[in-house]
Amino acid sequence: MASTPEALAQAQLEWDTPLYRMAVAQFDQAVSFADIPDGIAERLRFPERALMVSVPVRMDDGRRVVFPGYRVQHSSVLGPTKGGIRYDHDVTLGECAALAMWMTWKCSLLRLPYGGAKGGVRCDPRSLSSAELERLTRRYTSELLPVIGPQEDIPAPDMATNEQTMAWMMDTYSMQRGYAVPEIVTGKPISIGGSVFRHEATGVGVVMVVARACDRLGWRLEEQRCVVQGFGNVGGIAALELHEHGARVVAVSDVSGGLNAEGGLDVPALQAYAREHGSLEGNEAGSRLTNEELLELDCDILVLAAREDQITAENAPRLRARMIAEGANGPTSLEADAILNARGVPVLPDILTNAGGVTVSYFEWVQDLGRLFWTRDEIRAKLAEKLSDAFDRVWDLAEDRGTSLRTAALVAGIRDVSEALEARGIFP
Ligand code: NAD
Repeated sequence: MASTPEALAQAQLEWDTPLYRMAVAQFDQAVSFADIPDGIAERLRFPERALMVSVPVRMDDGRRVVFPGYRVQHSSVLGPTKGGIRYDHDVTLGECAALAMWMTWKCSLLRLPYGGAKGGVRCDPRSLSSAELERLTRRYTSELLPVIGPQEDIPAPDMATNEQTMAWMMDTYSMQRGYAVPEIVTGKPISIGGSVFRHEATGVGVVMVVARACDRLGWRLEEQRCVVQGFGNVGGIAALELHEHGARVVAVSDVSGGLNAEGGLDVPALQAYAREHGSLEGNEAGSRLTNEELLELDCDILVLAAREDQITAENAPRLRARMIAEGANGPTSLEADAILNARGVPVLPDILTNAGGVTVSYFEWVQDLGRLFWTRDEIRAKLAEKLSDAFDRVWDLAEDRGTSLRTAALVAGIRDVSEALEARGIFP
């Protein structure tokens, strides 16, 4: 099934964006260590399926606006596809394709019976009212009906979507079926079949992985000075968890900018402020600084939990953190990765570090299918077990093969998908 280089270049054009190019370049780097057949690698370089939709929405002022929406399914080899829905002005087909591919490796690395998907609507979510967001979500869900389902593709929250968004999606899908189908989405409210601990899972998972890395490096987490970029679901909870572990959170930021206090920030108070005001804007608990300045602060652990493309060839040489943890997807460019690697700064890669979310999403789906619910302690313990197992495999593989942690994580994820694809064969 080898394509000519021209055909391959042409096919890549359909998805072409900087983020997709980065996902494929990371894949190609890892494949050279993964020892998988060329034909299998070629299949995995492209998503299986993508849907583009136009979402008409009646605005509060009576106008009708059409928003572009997408859903990309990268691989269904291991099971239904799984992945978040984001509302953001940068959402494109290529961005969803890159994020869907990373979801495949993440699910496989965590040994979850899923493949990767991602979707979203290109919009400015901060300018939409709650009623507009509800109409947008319900119409977008209706447009996705041909490709989603509890055994086909299961959405979850991502940037600017939350439990409420998932409740609207679940209700829209259930109305078409005529009965409640909680297992169609994860990350929904507990009252309609959501799981305890899902809300906190990604942020807490980030800190579980950071703690494990500290153990391996002989560092004490409670002695570390931490900086967290992004103060939403992932960053806000990671900051709180670091604070509760006794680490000193010296700076945090969101889209409105950052706050720095060398003596340590009162993270619970900042959480309360952000809940009340919608962001950290106007807070004066520390000195204000820009996001660019925040990334370059002197600290032990820098948690990236905002968005992609934050550490680049330009700022990587100036970073002073001793370790970087990727809570966001794709925050470090390939060039920056190489610079940090050469400087000996460990980068805990996204597909491992933020996998707590999809892992507890999997627990939520299993509970919904079985109509039997577990306790918070049971879920927290199962999550810790899954993340530790994946962390140990990645760390040991990186040491054995002399690769970065990212390459090791990708190799571990890609190998299992490849093995399954080889066993199943290409249909027909
Ligand atoms: P969110 O919308 O809850 O929070 C995003 C935060 O980043 C907000 O505080 C926002 O103000 C801030 N932000 C946005 N642009 C910024 C910028 N340019 N500089 C600094 N801060 C900025 O989203 P989230 O769910 O926390 O997702 C954050 C990242 O984590 C995304 O990359 C997402 O794909 C990834 N992720 C999320 C989950 C999850 O369960 N929510 C799971 C895995 C990965």
